[in-house]
Amino acid sequence: MTELSKLTTGLTTAEAQARLKRFGKNELTPPKKQNPFLKFLHTLCQPMFLLLLCAAVIYFLLGQARDGAVMLVFVCGMIGIDAVQSWKTDKTLNALKKLSAPQVTVLRDGHETAVPSWELVPGDVVKLTEGIRIPADCHILSCSDLCIEESTLTGEAQGVWKSAAHTESEQLGRWRRDWCYAGTQVLEGSAVVLVEQTGLNTEYGKIGVSVAAAPQERSPLQKQTDRLVKVCTVIAVVLFAAVSFFTWLELAGTETAGRLVQSILSGVTLAMAMIPEEFPVVLAVFLSMGAWRLAKQQALVRRLPAVETLGEISVLCVDKTGTITQNQMAVQETWCFAANPASLTEALGLACEPEPYDPMEKAILDYCSQQGLPAQTLFSGTLVREYAFTHEDKRMGHIWQKGSRALLAAKGCPESIWSLCGMDNTAQKAAENAAKKLAASGLRVLAVAVQELTAGTPLPETLSECSPAFLGLVGLADPPRAGVTQDICRCTAAGIRVVMITGDSAETAGSIARQTGMPGAEAVVTGGEIDCMDDYTLRQCVQHTNIFARVVPEHKMRIVKALRACGAVTAMTGDGVNDAPALKYADIGIAMGKRGSEVAREASDLVLLDDNFSTIVRTVRDGRRIYDNLCKAVGYLFAIHIPFALSALLVPLLHIAPENGFLLPVHIVVLELLIDPTCSIVLERQPAETNLMKQKPRSSRQTLITPRLMLHSFLQGGLLAAAAFGSYLFWMQQTGNSALARTIGLVVLMLGNLFLVQTGSSRTESILHTAKVLRHDKVMWAIHLGTLAGISVLLYTPLCGFFGLVPLSALQLLTAFLLAAAAVLWSEPVKWLKKRFFHSKKN
Ligand code: ATP
Repeated sequence: MTELSKLTTGLTTAEAQARLKRFGKNELTPPKKQNPFLKFLHTLCQPMFLLLLCAAVIYFLLGQARDGAVMLVFVCGMIGIDAVQSWKTDKTLNALKKLSAPQVTVLRDGHETAVPSWELVPGDVVKLTEGIRIPADCHILSCSDLCIEESTLTGEAQGVWKSAAHTESEQLGRWRRDWCYAGTQVLEGSAVVLVEQTGLNTEYGKIGVSVAAAPQERSPLQKQTDRLVKVCTVIAVVLFAAVSFFTWLELAGTETAGRLVQSILSGVTLAMAMIPEEFPVVLAVFLSMGAWRLAKQQALVRRLPAVETLGEISVLCVDKTGTITQNQMAVQETWCFAANPASLTEALGLACEPEPYDPMEKAILDYCSQQGLPAQTLFSGTLVREYAFTHEDKRMGHIWQKGSRALLAAKGCPESIWSLCGMDNTAQKAAENAAKKLAASGLRVLAVAVQELTAGTPLPETLSECSPAFLGLVGLADPPRAGVTQDICRCTAAGIRVVMITGDSAETAGSIARQTGMPGAEAVVTGGEIDCMDDYTLRQCVQHTNIFARVVPEHKMRIVKALRACGAVTAMTGDGVNDAPALKYADIGIAMGKRGSEVAREASDLVLLDDNFSTIVRTVRDGRRIYDNLCKAVGYLFAIHIPFALSALLVPLLHIAPENGFLLPVHIVVLELLIDPTCSIVLERQPAETNLMKQKPRSSRQTLITPRLMLHSFLQGGLLAAAAFGSYLFWMQQTGNSALARTIGLVVLMLGNLFLVQTGSSRTESILHTAKVLRHDKVMWAIHLGTLAGISVLLYTPLCGFFGLVPLSALQLLTAFLLAAAAVLWSEPVKWLKKRFFHSKKN
């Protein structure tokens, strides 16, 4: 039994840790651990590694054990790099998962603190609010308007009203009214509860519900790269057969074993050069690192494919309160109708929760306190009935018993409160004018009403059964966030339409839109008007309307459907329980991490940790940057594979003896070892191009590989191939020394690779500029110096002969350097000309 004192201070951290050891984690299924051996096998089954192993086996079978061993060492090296990259990707994704794990507010050491729900232990005191998925079986200590949806346990979709006191008559079968159960969800209200059972001991756990995470579906980009690798592999297999056959014919007259080895090795070299096995790895690294960088900027990606979709967003639907505005309300004006200011203030305060979490209610209680009505005085009576706020009615009320007096205080949106009050036309007109005036200056307007209830009569079940008297209006200010105007301009420049969807009135919404410079502030469409539109009319309407007011969550769903039907890629923000369907339906559902409910978070693709509009805009920009860098990486990978493939193809075509050939399998492996890290590290960390947010969003039909990208890559790759293979041929002819010719060609390729990745870092900025931007980046230095060190080791250590290479003189090195630079850096003046031409055309 938990001692009473624990209920007010909660457990201490030490006690919680001890209980965690004793009862275990509050999880239904422990996270699956991947078998490292299976992972290793999976890597080994990639076509590239199979080819390498095939080459090694052939070497061993034919007694060339030394070459076979070198192959195996390199297979290990490549698997090592693959393992490091996949470990880093997994680590990043796990860290993201941990960040997005459900958090609960718990009392520990006398303070409220947020902990991941798996850390809960029996004896913890937890605070529940609207939208939370209940993390454990708990006993309700106190609650206010607590309605829980228990369909996961009982199958009953209707919410169940809970209470802190238990009476046997209220027992619902085996389910108690004063308990709430793991896996169920808070629909309305709030509560303080005591955790009784966790993990598999909960009712949910006992049923054996499988909550294992759904299998991760491959994203559109992953599917594209899978297809690409498959196509390249098929082409590689065909060319492998063709080149092997061709070489076999070439070597007619030599002894069979040697002839077979050389033929197969020529084919293997070409196939290895052709398979872009880096693509899936690069994609995984880019997306996971991208998601990690977004998390550091307050945007938590819940589904990785969302990173891809971010760059396609063409309509951004945002709510007003807290996203466009600061959600820091303050009562700014009041308008009394049939009451003096003091009674209006008292009724306004009494209609609030005594312990509010809504910033608006907190602001109201502050106001009451400033007017001489502190919470202790205000709430000195007994709360006998609560009418909870609903988005549909947009009003709420409380009945307070003060001595023999029972007083109903209600507040809500003016139309909703007036509908209860039965006012005459003159009064209604006066009130409407006053409300319009308050709203026109951007204030949120609440109407307040009271009713003295006759003693002894039963309390009304709902607010609509009451007939209070209208007391007056209150206007609350909630100023726009700093920087919103600039962010809206940024979106417009980036071809993204910003649409505001709010529960507030048309006048308030219009005024805030004008203050923030949103286009279309004069044409506001209300939820009532949406109700009168069929789907076709709504589709016409959403194409030119930027502000929707007095909406309920169902309208959000219709708006997002209409926008998508018009072909817009739509992002939608939401926070409430009822927003979940719209968030799920949008191309990108964005939940508010601070004020959002857990249901909204679960339905979203992205969680904003700071609820800030600027963060959404930054996230979209980053989404575009990640995709843009991915395109650069794909272009680079194509370009760098071309010299390998061409060289492997040209050797048999030019009747060069295979042993004198340019690149042997071992050289391809060395180059592959260089490509993977260079590409995924250097290109992944490139900052956004300066004009990235001045372009229209990418079309959702656009593929990663476009004809333009292919042309550019073929040009770059072709020229580098010409420089590398050309220098090899030249030195072969001049000296007849294949080792020297090969070494110069290889150095041209290795240096060309560095230039290629550097010049490919930006489409608009010069190589000097991009190098300057990342000059303090240690990883960039490591990659570049690593390549130079690699060249030195290959050329000037005993490994040189082993690889069939020779040391180069300073002049030869300089020649290789100049050739590599000329083959790649031609694109720099082209970039410069394009930029100038583009600029002069724009100005
Ligand atoms: P936004 O999309 O801008 O965030 P919202 O979702 O906050 O809007 P609602 O919460 O539906 O909009 O509020 C709509 C209206 O309901 C408000 O303009 C106000 O008149 C009324 N309202 C909101 N909260 C309360 C409350 N706690 N008590 C009484 N009335 C309220």
